[in-house]
Amino acid sequence: MMEKRKPWAEPYKIKVVEPVKMTTREYREKAIEEAGYNTFLLRSEDVYIDLLTDSGTNAMSDYQWAGMMLGDEAYAGSKNYYYLEDNVRKYYGYKYLVPTHQGRGAEHMLSQTVIKKGQFVAGNMYFTTTRLHQELAGGKFVDVIIDEAHDPDAIHPFKGNVDLDKFEKLIKEKGAENIAYITVGAPVNMAGGQPVSMENMKQVHALAKKHNIMVVLDATRNMENAYFIQQREKGYENKTVAEIHKEFCSYSDAATMSGKKDLLVNIGGFVACNDYDLFQKLRNMVVVYEGLHTYGGLAGRDMEAMARGMEEALQEENISFRVKQVKYFSDLLEEENIPIVKPAGGHAIFLNARKFYDHIPQDEFPAQKLAADLYVDSGVRGMERGIVSAGRNPETGDHNRPKLELVRLTFPRRVYTQAHLDVAAYSVIELYKKRHQAKGLRMVYEPPYLRFFQARFEVIK
Ligand SMILES: *Cc1c(COP(=O)(O)O)cnc(C)c1O
Repeated sequence: MMEKRKPWAEPYKIKVVEPVKMTTREYREKAIEEAGYNTFLLRSEDVYIDLLTDSGTNAMSDYQWAGMMLGDEAYAGSKNYYYLEDNVRKYYGYKYLVPTHQGRGAEHMLSQTVIKKGQFVAGNMYFTTTRLHQELAGGKFVDVIIDEAHDPDAIHPFKGNVDLDKFEKLIKEKGAENIAYITVGAPVNMAGGQPVSMENMKQVHALAKKHNIMVVLDATRNMENAYFIQQREKGYENKTVAEIHKEFCSYSDAATMSGKKDLLVNIGGFVACNDYDLFQKLRNMVVVYEGLHTYGGLAGRDMEAMARGMEEALQEENISFRVKQVKYFSDLLEEENIPIVKPAGGHAIFLNARKFYDHIPQDEFPAQKLAADLYVDSGVRGMERGIVSAGRNPETGDHNRPKLELVRLTFPRRVYTQAHLDVAAYSVIELYKKRHQAKGLRMVYEPPYLRFFQARFEVIK
């Protein structure tokens, strides 16, 4: 039994509400059948608690909404741009800023500007859009994350760390001049939101500088990472998350950013750097792909909301609440011995469907079915991260069969209360009790690209 915990609550109160539709089990059975047992194909209005993603699903504050009214929609030189630039300097520490419509806009421009065809790009595990842009620019991605990151049961306080030996080996084998840069993602999304330590980042920076290799930070959820450092790393317990965040950025030369995550907005991103020549190139490229360099595909009001979100996201009570909410959910599941990836990350928890539905073979899509069953049980929407997401081997045409067969439950920032979390956890626990009744799925439609978005299934009777 866990000790009785001290009560806690959200560090905000509610001023505007968005009603959600309450549905019956019968209604949801029909809805998921019509959606081909794919949660991506459900209508949002049929979902009660939406844990599909934390991307762009944030709730903005009154301070941000007030800022939206101050949008300076001038084509050139919007005052919201200069405010955003000031805040990026203040909170991230980079000298130069180019706004983009979202993270992948930043990744595209940085990859095209820096990578020479045939060069290698190191990274602590891949992220889908990041790697794709590196490859489209002619780069070859090499994973240099520590081995623990690939094992769902391995416990490590900084499971996202770069393996310095792997990185050094790559430099020796390929030659530093053939490495475009190293991307450090912190925390690592695809590893379940696992953080990177300051010590590790410092060492990565030192090794990279010795060989004159550029360090690029994927800063998408770096504030969550800074919170983990404050909680787990010696010497940082008395520093603020804002101080830790800025120090972490100081060990990189440039950053790409999806504002849709940390920055509490629904759309926005940027690329920032310290080198003037690189900035000049990025600033020129943005006018081709995104928009003028003082708006980069965003409205003035969106830049204002992002600049204000930056200030709020770094407040101690905000960021600690964010990560603790995820931990609260994972504790509820762990008390009941539900199989999940450990330890809980900063933005999501992952159900281990391979253990949850251990009677359903991987070729009958246990994680896909678990996500569908969770929706039917309570209207909670998660997403499959297993054999469906992994696609097929282009040479043999057979399924890729990943070790990890997971359902991801991701938490939008400031959207749901503790009571919503209790409902979602209760549903997972109830499903686990009757797990042996679950039947597998058969795929009846499979699109050629990124099949998990649109594939359709039927229940095997
Ligand atoms: C979401 C995300 C991106 C891409 O950002 P978009 O705003 O979705 O284009 C890049 N890296 C990580 C780690 C992300 O989670």
